[in-house]
This record gives sequence, C-alpha cells and structure tokens, in this order.
Amino acid sequence: MLDVAAQNGPLMQRLIDKAAEVIRSGRYILGPEVEAFEREVAEYIGVEHAIGVSSGTDALLVALMALGVGAGDEVITTPFSFFATAGCIARVGATPVFVDIRPDTFNLDVEQIEASMTERTKAILPVHLFGQACDMRALRKIAAKHQLPLIEDAAQAIGTKSPVGPVGGLGAYGCFSFFPSKNLGGFGDGGLVTTNDADLADKARVIRAHGSKPKYHHSVVGGNFRIDALQAALLRVKLPALEGWTSIRRQNAGRYDAAFTAARLDPGVLSTPVRRFEGHIYNQYVIRTSQRDALQAHLHERKIATAIYYPVPLHRQECFAHLGYGAGSLPVSEHASQEVLALPVFAGLGETRQAHIIDAVIQFLDR
Ligand SMILES: *Cc1c(COP(=O)(O)O)cnc(C)c1O
Repeated sequence: MLDVAAQNGPLMQRLIDKAAEVIRSGRYILGPEVEAFEREVAEYIGVEHAIGVSSGTDALLVALMALGVGAGDEVITTPFSFFATAGCIARVGATPVFVDIRPDTFNLDVEQIEASMTERTKAILPVHLFGQACDMRALRKIAAKHQLPLIEDAAQAIGTKSPVGPVGGLGAYGCFSFFPSKNLGGFGDGGLVTTNDADLADKARVIRAHGSKPKYHHSVVGGNFRIDALQAALLRVKLPALEGWTSIRRQNAGRYDAAFTAARLDPGVLSTPVRRFEGHIYNQYVIRTSQRDALQAHLHERKIATAIYYPVPLHRQECFAHLGYGAGSLPVSEHASQEVLALPVFAGLGETRQAHIIDAVIQFLDR
C-alpha cells in the first residue's frame, strides 16, 4: 500500500544529520525543535496554534479533556472511522453517539445529527475521512446553534482545505496524526492538536504535560502527551516535501478516476470516490464495488496490495455492544464496510505500477 522507507530515501542524509544534531543537543523533551515544528506546521495547515503531542489518538484525548468531556456526556461522531475516534470518547468516560454517513463521501451525514442530540450532548466529533473535508459549513452552523464545540478528527487530512477554510481550524480543536501511513508520516508515533483560540491552545498545552502550570502545580489532571523532540525535528525535515507528495497523490487519484470512468462499468460494479469539495489530499483512494472480496483476492494474487477501511463499523464493535446498536441500525456505514477497497495512491507509486493496478481492476470487474 505504501513504501515509507522509499519515501524517506531522498531525505536520508538530512534526516540522519538532524537526528545526530538532536542527540548531541541533549534536548529531548519539548524545547526548540518542538517549538519550531509547531510554528512551521501551524503555518502549513493555516491555523494560529499547533501543539505537538504523542499520537493522533492522544490529540483526540487532549482535545476531549481540554473541553471537559467526561462521565455522563455524549459525543456525536461517525461509526465509519479508525477506532481511535470513538475509543477516545469512551476513554474519557463519555458515550459515543453514532450518526450514519453519506454513501458518497463516507463522511458524517450532517442532516442526521440534530435528531441524535440530547441534553447530554457535549461535543461533535466529525472525521475528514480519507483526506476529504466534511461539510464544515453545515457542521459549524449546527454546532453554533446548539452551542457545542466541534473537534475535527483530521488525522487523515493534513493540508485538506474545505470551502470555509483549512481543516483543523474550523472548530474548537483539530487533531492530526503523524503515524507512518499518514500523508506526513513520522518515525514512530506523533500527533498534533490545532486551534485558532489562544485560551484553548493554552489548555491543550497544559494538559499535554500533566496539567502542570506552573511546573509542579496542577489545577487540572493531564497526562504525558508530549511529542518527542527527535520526532518533531525529523518531521521538520519532511514537512517541506509534503505539498509535493500531496500533489502527486492527487495526480494518481485523477488517473484512477479517469481510467475507471472510461471503463464505463455499472456503478454497483465499480464507483470511484466522490469529490464533493476541492482540497482532498487522498490519504486513501477508496473505490466501492459489490465484488469487493473477490476483487481483493484477485489483486492479491497479482501482488497488488489493497486494504479495507473499515471492515467493521465502530457501532458494531464488540466493545460497544452495550450501546445497543443492532445490525442494520446504521445501514449506510454497514453497507460501505462491505464494499470499500483502498488502492495504493502514495506518491512513490509510479505510473507503470498504477497502470498495472488499473488493468487488473478493470479486467476483473469487466467480465
Ligand atoms: C490514524 C488515525 C487516528 C489515530 O492516530 P494515531 O497517530 O495512529 O494515534 C485517529 N483517527 C483517524 C481517523 C485516523 O486515521
């Protein structure tokens, strides 16, 4: 799906030099590399404040903790996401309330949100899935009307633009991930909390380091959610290349779109990802097909890697069985989980390999 080591190849000497510099400096926890990275990545994303944290998961935890979400609260979110989105809600003691997705973009169906609100609703947590923005204009309107904070799970969406602005700055907090498979992948775990509100930025910073302010004085309970200085320093080396990699991902997605559209298959047999808004960064390129499992096996035989994001929607996970979402309760997500297949779209894919993938997909489905 992704050759991370190959991507780092051209930057190897600079990465090694940077790592050596940090190791020699003796500054391993926060410090100048973290501060410089936070400034640079905030500028890239287009937000006022960025707080480096230990993972995308911890970014979500920090945001929920900073907003005081806890026991007895409900957070409205999507069932069609990576587990961390709902896992973090449960970990702060709150209850995830799942609202179904749109069948075209796989993002939250904003029109269904209000019907799921109760007096316990404390926040809305949309996910910009696969790198495409949610309908943030509508979401912000709903959030403002009910005076609820929005937490954007932008783990797959670094650099994604929406019609109302860059993602990560459109709610109370944005949460990003530097997991190696994300568009800006680190050398281990890392994440980021973003905001345009100075007070919220301060809260997140305090929670990142045990709720300590000033040092050894704790008015709130936080945790150890710091990004490593080494990780931040290495991400600084990669950040200037991100826009170029993203534009190659867009080109690759465009080539898939053109080839699959030209094949004129029935939409049940193959449908390409719907781009509802410009500014998609294609962390994943996900097709839908009624013959998903057979197609995946066919591609596997031809040594073509694919992945299923996500085979079991979150409301159907065993750990959430007590919430009582039965089979068929969120039908669009459940149907999508049977039909989605992610094809390789990373910057190092190459036209020849992509042409081979396109041929294999069409040859199998056009029978
Ligand atoms: C990757 C991801 C996360 C978690 O990020 P980690 O850095 O792996 O902890 C959260 N939400 C979504 C949608 C993700 O894709």
